[in-house]
Amino acid sequence: MADFGGTEQEAFRAEARTWLADNYPAELREPGVVTDPEAIWGGRAFAGSEDPQIVWMRRVAERGWTAPRWPEAYGGGGLTAAEAKILDEEMAAGRYRPALTSFGLWMLGPVLLEYASEAQKREHLPRIIRGEIRWCQGYSEPGAGSDLASLQTRCEDKGDHWLINGQKIWTSYANKADWCFCLVRTDFSKKHEGISFILIDMASQGVETRPIKLISGESPFCETFFTDVKVPKENMVGRLNGGWEIAKRLLQYERQNISGGFGGGGTTGGSAADLSEVAKRYLGVEGGALADADLRARVTANKMDFRAFYLTLSRVAAESSAGNGPSAATSIIKYAAAALAQQRGELMVEAMGHQGLGWEGEAFTPAEILATRGWLRSKGNSIEGGTSEVNLNVVSKRVLGLPDPK
Ligand SMILES: Cc1cc2nc3c(=O)[nH]c(=O)nc-3n(C[C@H](O)[C@H](O)[C@H](O)COP(=O)(O)OP(=O)(O)OC[C@H]3O[C@@H](n4cnc5c(N)ncnc54)[C@H](O)[C@@H]3O)c2cc1C
Repeated sequence: MADFGGTEQEAFRAEARTWLADNYPAELREPGVVTDPEAIWGGRAFAGSEDPQIVWMRRVAERGWTAPRWPEAYGGGGLTAAEAKILDEEMAAGRYRPALTSFGLWMLGPVLLEYASEAQKREHLPRIIRGEIRWCQGYSEPGAGSDLASLQTRCEDKGDHWLINGQKIWTSYANKADWCFCLVRTDFSKKHEGISFILIDMASQGVETRPIKLISGESPFCETFFTDVKVPKENMVGRLNGGWEIAKRLLQYERQNISGGFGGGGTTGGSAADLSEVAKRYLGVEGGALADADLRARVTANKMDFRAFYLTLSRVAAESSAGNGPSAATSIIKYAAAALAQQRGELMVEAMGHQGLGWEGEAFTPAEILATRGWLRSKGNSIEGGTSEVNLNVVSKRVLGLPDPK
């Protein structure tokens, strides 16, 4: 009988399980372990650090499993889709932390693989994988959000270098990033065909960042100013005025990755705490079920929708790794993920009653404060990576093939 690779896959599973167990720093298993919360993002600030998260990052990078599907030539794992899925499963089963959280890994790397020169790939991909460089995304401007192609940041050819002048906004973690992948205008006579994609070292003279405070109390993003910033000629990716195609492709990767992160964790609607368990604790139980029948129905519907969403997400991810990467259909996923995360944040706060309105102070537990701030943070879910309305436009045009409204 044909094997279809089953035995090899089981051998890989055993190898992955053993390697992960042997290499996970013991400190990361201890409750209350001290690791810098920023360490998981890597970057120059952590060069030479012995923080256990950084030790883990280095070990996984050395093994090639930070970017399991990227080619080995650039420091990736060169794994098949099936092997990468097994590795994911083993990471989840062992409750291992990710080695690295990174815009380089999620967004920039995949488009460099598609559009960059060989020299650019060799320069940037290994440094992304090793977590040596923390990247930010310089797309939005004060006059260019949904209508991104209106961007005005000027990039002039000065012979031996590019000269950049302009302003970006909402640049997530710009104040902590080492480099920025940026959209700039290289031709003012055309709209989409006048945009180029360029890589800028944030340590360059003339780069300034100013954090903006959010309603959640966090300041995860900045205004970013470029004043006479000199950028080496070799930092342009793809052809001059050919950046729009790369920009759109990167947004597909962004939407796919943002959606994968919804539903728990610090960036979305509340903590990863189980919604029905929290509701039971605050509102009581009748016959083993949440006492409030109306809320019970809505919590159950949200959990079922999340379950269906994650099944769809893994199907889309499998299709995308089997084919040509993500498609415009990522807009469906991004739209649904934002709606569900916001609904979850609302339900969490509703279940907690007054306790779900805590900002700080001893009257509230850390979990309650996290729920309030998570609910406020979730407001951004339908804006970041393209607003829900814009994603619906993409779905109607590019997925359903409906005509443009005039
Ligand atoms: C948490 C967060 C992180 C972010 N991080 C980054 C980052 O790292 N880098 C970066 O470059 N940007 C980032 N952004 C910015 C984000 O990409 C923009 O906010 C977004 O694209 C919307 O642009 P805008 O804010 O200018 O709103 P606008 O484009 O002005 O939109 C305002 C409203 O009009 C609606 N609208 C606009 N055009 C249409 C249309 N054609 N059809 C229907 N409705 C429309 C929108 O849906 C929205 O409701 C981030 C945003 C958030 C919230």
